[in-house]
Parts: sequence; structure tokens; C-alpha cells
Amino acid sequence: MVVVLERNITDEQLENIISHLEKYGFNVHRSSGLAQTVLGAIGVKPDFDIRKIKILDGVADVIRVTEPYKLASRSYKTENTEIKIKDTVIGGNEVIIIAGPCSVENEEQVFTIAEIVSKGGAKILRGGAFKPRTSPYAFQGLGEEGLKLLRQAGDKFNLAVITEVLEPAQIELVDQYTDIFQIGARNMQNYPLLREIGKTTKPVLLKRGLSATVDDLLMSAEYILSNGNSNLMLCERGIRTFETNTRNTFDISSIPVIHKKSHLPVIADPSHATGLRDKVIPMARAAAAAGADGLMIEVHHDPENALSDGPQAILPDEFYELMKQLKLIAEIIGRKID
Ligand code: PEP
Ligand code: MN
Repeated sequence: MVVVLERNITDEQLENIISHLEKYGFNVHRSSGLAQTVLGAIGVKPDFDIRKIKILDGVADVIRVTEPYKLASRSYKTENTEIKIKDTVIGGNEVIIIAGPCSVENEEQVFTIAEIVSKGGAKILRGGAFKPRTSPYAFQGLGEEGLKLLRQAGDKFNLAVITEVLEPAQIELVDQYTDIFQIGARNMQNYPLLREIGKTTKPVLLKRGLSATVDDLLMSAEYILSNGNSNLMLCERGIRTFETNTRNTFDISSIPVIHKKSHLPVIADPSHATGLRDKVIPMARAAAAAGADGLMIEVHHDPENALSDGPQAILPDEFYELMKQLKLIAEIIGRKID
């Protein structure tokens, strides 16, 4: 931690700052330039609240040098985390495609879409059985029936499956059917859920909250990792900004930002990020080019009649075309899509 001092600081104020830092357990090193003096405070604890120093008289600014998260950081683990699901590895050289409907609606729908995405080259089938909807009157998902259908469709077309778990009480049930637990954007800071999912061993996809910074996302990741589950991947799904032309604003730069700060794989979700079918395809290409370890894309054969997120689902032919383009993009950046 670096403490920048005000230029006109008095000796008394300086002594007070140093004695506070020592009281909090820091080793203090003073470094004086011609116009500015800074204090290097060594030994910051992850939970230290830097405002305790910021409010002292004579302090101009306090800058944290080490991250407040540990297990999620690249400095803790330099090599990329690789997550194995059946024959698929997420976080390795291959870009993994997760595709499927927003929600599991019925048997015919999920089997039809599973066949399409498997034919296109997806490795993982997505589909919500418990849906976190903005309106309590909107379709809430089929529940256990949806989990069963998702599992059966995945098994039939040799796809692993991912589905959302909304609350700790659902973990046991969802665990019986899924290969990956999804924690939705609205639950990114649901700490009881993060703690309980951290006690499982199955892979987890943690989605970035609507108004979360990358560091907030990494702090939530830390909750899961610190409870023991290291099979964790993160998902950029767009954030709330002042822009209204898209459902959210796709923060593509978070992909290289997270890769630099953390060893965890990053999946990009251009569907929820843009909310509009015609924007999903260019943004999917951009995310692959930016180095995403995987993409999660909503696909529907009859989006007009979809029970949720129809307007952002791409059509089967669009999915096939996109997969061809993604393979070329992956190749250009030295990766691959099988
Ligand atoms: C989803 O992927 O099904 C979903 C609800 O997305 P998000 O949590 O990102 O809104
Ligand atoms: Mn959706």
C-alpha cells in the first residue's frame, strides 16, 4: 500500500500517520522526493480497509498495490486453470462453445435445439430450469422437469450440460442433473449461495453482476475458491451503462483484463450482453478475437414463440454460419474449435 502525503503536511500529522500504520501492523518506509513524500506500507492484509488511512489529516491518497483477492489472482497461481468436463477442457487452447435455449420449455424444444447445437460443434448444452426473471409474472422455468429434459437431451447428443442454480436449497437437486452449475448475474453477490456452491466439487460458471466491476467479480470468485471449489470459470455477460441501444453493454475488454489479473477461464455471453439477435453474431466474433476461453450463445429454432429471450436467440442457420467464422478466428489467434 502506498500513502501519498499532502505537500504541506506538518511533522505532527506525519507522526500520527506513521503511528497509525504501525498500530495496524505495517512496516513503514518513507520516500521523499523534491516536492512529494510517500510512505510505503508493507504487509497489507486482504481485508484491510484503506479508508482508515485515507481519512487521516495530511493524507492525499492511499493506493492499494496488492489485490484484495488472493486465490483468484494470477500472482497466486501463474498457470491457467483448466477445467475438465467429460472430454472437454475449458481454459486450454480450445475455445469451447456453450449453446442452447434460454429456458428449457418442453421435450420437443430442447431435443430439437440440442441436435442443432451439437451438429454445429457446441460441446455444452445450456438451458435454464430455474429462471431468474425480472418480472415475477414471467415464465419461471420448468423446475425439475426441465433439469431432466436438459440431461436427457445432453446425453442423447453427447453434450455436457449447464444450468442455473438460484438458491442454496436447490444445489442438491440441480447437482443430480447438471455438469456445470451456473450462478446468474443477479446472484453474483449472493454470499450464502457462493459459499454453498464453493463446498461442491462440480465446475461452476460465475456470471458478472449487472453493476459489478471486474474486481467485484473476482472477490465473488474468491468466495467460491476459498470454500474449496477450484473448478471455477467466470462469465462476461454485459453490464448496465447509460447506453440504451443494447440490453447491456458488452465489456469485451474485461476478457484480457481478467486474463491478466486471474488464472480463471473467461466465458463470454454475447446473447445477454446485447439482447438483440443481430448484435449477437458480431459480438460473438469480437469476444473470440479478444481471447475468450469459451462463448455461451442462446439458440432457438422458433424464437418467435420462445418463452424467454426469443429476440436474442440466434437461428439455427445463423449458428452454423457463426461456428464456421469462429473456427477461422480461433485459428488466426493460435487457438482452435474442434
Ligand atoms: C442466463 O444465462 O440464463 C441468464 C439468466 O443470464 P444472466 O444471469 O447473465 O442474466
Ligand atoms: Mn436468457
